[in-house]
Amino acid sequence: MDKNIRNDFPILSRTVYGHPLVYLDNAATTQKPRQVVEAIADEYYNVNANVHRGVHFLSQQATELHEQSRETVRRFINARSTNEIIFTRGTTESINLLARTLAQYHSNKTEMGEVIVSQMEHHSNIVPWQLNGFKLRVIPMSDEGVLDLDTYQKLFTPQTRMVSITHVSNVMGTINPVEDIIRIAHEHGVPILIDGAQSTPHMTVDMQALDCDFFAFSGHKIYGPTGIGVLYGKEEWLNQLPPYQGGGEMIKNVSFELTTFNELPYKFEAGTPDYVGSHALAVALDYVSQIGMDTIHQHETELTTYAIKQMQSIAGIQIYGNTQHLSAGPISFNVQGIHHLDLGTLLDRLGIAVRTGHHCAEPLMHRLGAEGTVRISFGLYNTIDEIDTFVSGLRRVIQMF
Ligand code: PLP
Repeated sequence: MDKNIRNDFPILSRTVYGHPLVYLDNAATTQKPRQVVEAIADEYYNVNANVHRGVHFLSQQATELHEQSRETVRRFINARSTNEIIFTRGTTESINLLARTLAQYHSNKTEMGEVIVSQMEHHSNIVPWQLNGFKLRVIPMSDEGVLDLDTYQKLFTPQTRMVSITHVSNVMGTINPVEDIIRIAHEHGVPILIDGAQSTPHMTVDMQALDCDFFAFSGHKIYGPTGIGVLYGKEEWLNQLPPYQGGGEMIKNVSFELTTFNELPYKFEAGTPDYVGSHALAVALDYVSQIGMDTIHQHETELTTYAIKQMQSIAGIQIYGNTQHLSAGPISFNVQGIHHLDLGTLLDRLGIAVRTGHHCAEPLMHRLGAEGTVRISFGLYNTIDEIDTFVSGLRRVIQMF
């Protein structure tokens, strides 16, 4: 990876408690390159106007940027059409949108039905289904964090309404075999959502190759701004689902007696959209595309492999998941006899930003028999030197206990 890339991220050259910042919390959110921050400022300074509604120049220019951004997203994930790209606030809202509209879609049935999830889901792929009345059936995993696909096959019933699975675990970094999981769902005639929050920033994701029915990701985890994300849905599914929220933009005609709804994708985008966010997200996607997702994946895989090797030589450390199959994603661990929060707090004093706790995956923590873990996670700008700093910092902290 070109070392100059770090210059695009001004925050990386700041210090924390007198130490150069080592930012290893990328699974929670990534830092933003100048290009993204400047795109936001530029739009507010020079273009700002509400989209879709104005005949005036600025409104048309803002609309053009917003719709070009949709096309950038389409290209980035290789969807068939921009009709399949719904802008949301992020992965969480994307899953809530789907859970709510799917519940309405099935509301005439005597039973709301079941959704198959896995033991390693983020809370945002558990709670929305529960809130909307679905019963969860759970794919178990091995001690190494590998999903049991034989049991998965047996979880389907006539009441199965959806399979909803994370692509990459936000705790262990496991890349799930989503191609097989999608194929099996389709063999049972059931649609499937892939939670791409932790995969999209680290590898090429291709909707037509994956053939999933829905896919969700967040802009802020892929060097874009907060508050913008995407729900991809196959057109034939999105056309069948009812609208999510009511308001401006999502309607065709409104009267007090009868309202008709707009076509895709606007049917699901009530109110003024985050048109500045969508543009900044497109700039972020162009930024990573220019580097190349394969280059990013390779770089981060090297970092992960190196980090695991270094960490395994530390006495008393337990790394969760299958260390042979870890992706470029996060690494979770504990050190015997030391609370994860203490480790995280002391690493922070050395300028090393890590995450501690249950990582919004309490059922997974129960499965792992851990109250919480320390998690490090990489972005395209991290370096081998930073891993060395982290590992020697960790050794120092452990010695203090
Ligand atoms: N799914 C996974 C796997 C995640 O890691 C996260 C965030 O950490 C989410 C969903 C929720 O993403 P957001 O908070 O951006 O909506």
